[in-house]
Amino acid sequence: MDDSFDEECDYLFKSVLVGDSAVGKSNLLSRFARNQFQLDSKPTIGVEFAYRNIRVGDKLIKAQIWDTAGQERFRAITSSYYRGALGALLVYDITRRTTFENLRKWLHELREYGSSDMVIVLVGNKSDLSNSSRQVNIEDGQSLAQLEGLSFLETSAMENLNVEEAFLQMINKIHEIVSQKSL
Ligand code: GDP
Repeated sequence: MDDSFDEECDYLFKSVLVGDSAVGKSNLLSRFARNQFQLDSKPTIGVEFAYRNIRVGDKLIKAQIWDTAGQERFRAITSSYYRGALGALLVYDITRRTTFENLRKWLHELREYGSSDMVIVLVGNKSDLSNSSRQVNIEDGQSLAQLEGLSFLETSAMENLNVEEAFLQMINKIHEIVSQKSL
């Protein structure tokens, strides 16, 4: 993994994480970018982002992923957060129904401020708690994704399940769109 900002990258893709507080956004990001998981939620305020370089075919992509870093608590995410973003992970917590119900609000924001062909991957996080405290069935996630034309995965940032897949699906789809445009 190379975190330096080098000039050898063919593309720089900005993408964002959205969803209610405490659904696991920052832990998904730290898993993907640094392979870390934190038990205590960090109350840092202000936007944060991380980079990871990924090879797709013969291209080197620098994925820049923005995290709300707690701002969503105050409904303080502004249009600059979404500006230029080509992709989003739209995250809910499978153990808290309200985080699923609030997805409509997040989708509305993404569509209002994001690019029209933004790649959105719906992510039901905390799948490790599936047996003990699930409040959202996998079918609910699947049907919302189908209705809204999104990809869908359940993940566990804690157990590192499907995290890599969720980010890579998004990045691969962005790459498809961008490379078609530049033909
Ligand atoms: P954010 O506010 O959306 O960025 O959420 P955080 O990443 O700060 O996580 C909120 C809380 O959920 C923290 O206590 C995490 O340890 C916990 N958490 C995050 N992901 C998972 C997961 O996949 N499984 C479980 N069991 N807990 C998680």
